[in-house]
Amino acid sequence: MTEQLTGGCACGAVRYEAKGEIEFSFNCHCRKCQRSTGTGHSSAFAIDVAGIQFQGEVREHKAISDNGAATYSGFCPTCGSPLTSRTERFPNRIYIHAATLDDPSHFSPSVIVFEEAAQPWDPPIKNLEAAPK
Ligand SMILES: [Zn+2]
Ligand SMILES: [Zn+2]
Repeated sequence: MTEQLTGGCACGAVRYEAKGEIEFSFNCHCRKCQRSTGTGHSSAFAIDVAGIQFQGEVREHKAISDNGAATYSGFCPTCGSPLTSRTERFPNRIYIHAATLDDPSHFSPSVIVFEEAAQPWDPPIKNLEAAPK
């Protein structure tokens, strides 16, 4: 998918335009994603950091993921909406939360991450691919 993707936070203080190609789309059930989204999993797509432009401040919270890597959860400091995620393991890649898209129907997860950490009240989609290593 190479079409231009636009989106932003709930209050409109942060907007983005992504022009790069989506590398993959995934649902992640790790505890970090559960805490930072307040739900059972995050739904996000991976894109090259050079392919996306933000307007407005994205503040980042640093945490250690289930595999020990430093990760950075980006959110709007005004409304608190989760927007992005990055990990030191893949410095050229940024993950964008799917529901921040202006048209979230563009999103279609094909990969599952940390399936074993899924909560019983938020069962994983069956038959997704395992995460790329
Ligand atoms: Zn906002
Ligand atoms: Zn996660």
